[in-house]
Amino acid sequence: AVPVPDDPFASLNAEQRAAVEHDVGAAAPRPLLVVAGAGSGKTNTLAHRVARLILAGADPQRLLLLTFSRRAANEMTQRAGNVLHRVLQPIVGGGGQGITTLPWAGTFHSIGARLLREFAGRIGLDESFTIHDRGDSEDLMGMVRHEIGLTGTQKRFPLKGTCLSIYSRVVNSRDPLGVVLQSTFPWCCEWEDELKRLFGAYVDAKQEQNVLDYDDLLLFWAEMASDPELGPEIGALFDHVLVDEYQDTNRLQAAIITGMKPDGQGVMVVGDDAQSIYSFRGATVRNILDFPGQFSQPAELITLERNYRSTQPILAASNALIAAALERHAKTLWTDKAATGLPQLVLIPDEAEQARWVCRRILEQREAGIKLTQQAVLFRAASHSAALELELMRRNIPFVKFGGLKFLEASHIKDVLAVLRFAQNPNGRMAGFRVLQLIPGIGPATATRLLDAVAEAPEALAAVEAFEVPARSRGDWDAFVTLYRHLRTPGLRWPADIELVKNWYLPHLERLHDDAQARAADVEQLAQLAGGHGSRETFLAEITLDPPEATSDRAGPPLLDEDYLILSTIHSSKGQEWTSVHVLNVVDGCIPSDMSTGSAEDIEEERRLLYVAMTRAKEHLHLVVPNRFFIKQQAQMGDRHVYAARTRFVTPAMLKHFEECVWLNAETAQSKKPMPESVRMLVRDRARNAWK
Ligand code: ATP
Ligand code: MG
Repeated sequence: AVPVPDDPFASLNAEQRAAVEHDVGAAAPRPLLVVAGAGSGKTNTLAHRVARLILAGADPQRLLLLTFSRRAANEMTQRAGNVLHRVLQPIVGGGGQGITTLPWAGTFHSIGARLLREFAGRIGLDESFTIHDRGDSEDLMGMVRHEIGLTGTQKRFPLKGTCLSIYSRVVNSRDPLGVVLQSTFPWCCEWEDELKRLFGAYVDAKQEQNVLDYDDLLLFWAEMASDPELGPEIGALFDHVLVDEYQDTNRLQAAIITGMKPDGQGVMVVGDDAQSIYSFRGATVRNILDFPGQFSQPAELITLERNYRSTQPILAASNALIAAALERHAKTLWTDKAATGLPQLVLIPDEAEQARWVCRRILEQREAGIKLTQQAVLFRAASHSAALELELMRRNIPFVKFGGLKFLEASHIKDVLAVLRFAQNPNGRMAGFRVLQLIPGIGPATATRLLDAVAEAPEALAAVEAFEVPARSRGDWDAFVTLYRHLRTPGLRWPADIELVKNWYLPHLERLHDDAQARAADVEQLAQLAGGHGSRETFLAEITLDPPEATSDRAGPPLLDEDYLILSTIHSSKGQEWTSVHVLNVVDGCIPSDMSTGSAEDIEEERRLLYVAMTRAKEHLHLVVPNRFFIKQQAQMGDRHVYAARTRFVTPAMLKHFEECVWLNAETAQSKKPMPESVRMLVRDRARNAWK
């Protein structure tokens, strides 16, 4: 008997099914917008639709799936693959092939990089371009700023990082500089003319050096998409364009979609206006509001109301938080997941206690059967987990941190990547400058002379070979030239190249750093990553656009199959879910952040951020409120401890949604009166009075 395929679409509710089946098989599928709250299955629905389209005969090569991170793209294609597998396996027999990857799935930036590489010749771009990460871009901005004389005499001129943020904001919002300054950087308004000059020079420098920054990947793509000839051509590459987390796209990204698909055919986007948390990067919920009318035909709208993620009390607390928002997010979410107790609001003396309490709680939960990978600790800023990280290491609890200091920011990783970039694109001065100065005896002046020579020569290698270095650098220089010759010679096998670079670099590492051994392990990890990519070009682009997020802490990174705890900034936790979630520092000053209390809109965005954090939890949610916390400030003021109060977002009226717990001091409580955890924890009535 032929086994009957089990129907993976049977689990979908009516609205989800409508979204999955929307115009399937139609010659011209109409644009579709799914707006729904957290945990209502938006991402899940998108994944099912991908599978459904493929089952209906869509060519997987002609689907474009745009997500917030590569991780999200992988997860989603995997989910779609599982659905396909369940349907196909019984039909084609044991080894039924689902799909595991979609060729065009990734972030806007990585897909942009790929399209630009393919269309480079057509738009007058040299295809050996390299991509600057945020650090490189800031450095180039700083260098240009210096070159056009905006340093020194102009002491109050904005820092290079601020300049880059302003530039980026202008590009992504498509607003004029003056408007961006007024609305977002009012303290820089007086510099409008100078900034104009600076940005002009910055753009020239990028072009001269054949480098693109993150914004260019979107900008060039948007320009291609709106080009009367190229736009339709690029649009015709895809029958379906599916976008997750649409509330966090910016104007430029919306323009890319409309440019490619002016009639909205085959376009489906999903999002939640209550979770919009990237306005500081120019993202705007207007994109969701405008979507229905942005194409030459109106879009279909579907809303989802059932939450499948969280228990009723967690949902109730989250709903109460968002119901108090200034802007209405008219959504009613319901769930039938039974309660396992109220979310906890844990009042604690300070951050050190917070770290200890969270560790204990996490271990208890592990004892109770919740694996570490099913638990996450979330925080507003990457620096907030410092005390906790120490405590975790002390107790040997393995963890991986997302959204903090990136792998790419380590100087030794930058060094290795710079060698590869300098080989790929000899005109990229940031990379060249970095590499050359690794060679003993070569300083900024010599490096500059060499880069000038390279820029003028018809072939970079010849210029490098002909360059005269000081006698004491001769040996090291020759070793570098040999390496460079290898790397510049076409046809070399990848990833063998990275081994050459590694072997060349390790002695320098040894010479430059005391902790060379730990750093060498990172370099090894980088080399292994390189092995997963087909060419130097794609490796460089991928790693720049979507670097491994987990920092390899010096105690050694946990193995992938090991059980480990997740630490993440709230921003990086988007779209994910865990059985148990702890949110650190739920105090005014952290959420809302001191940096963001400028305007009502800023504060509302912080509210949505807390909403995102709370809605990651499936069964257990803990908001931790230290009574004192540590803030890092501008150098002049020095770091200090401040007394803090529970975040203003948890109003007295909302307290009924929480169980309040007071935690005085682990050590004293333990030594004086050994009590069961439950008794010590729930000094609830005291808490009520102390905090009102
Ligand atoms: P977010 O807004 O946080 O991104 P989301 O709307 O994308 O959330 P998903 O992550 O897709 O929600 O789904 C949340 C959880 O609910 C997942 O565990 C998913 O597997 C589950 N889920 C979604 N739809 C259903 C369904 N019809 N039946 C059972 N479980 C479902
Ligand atoms: Mg989602």
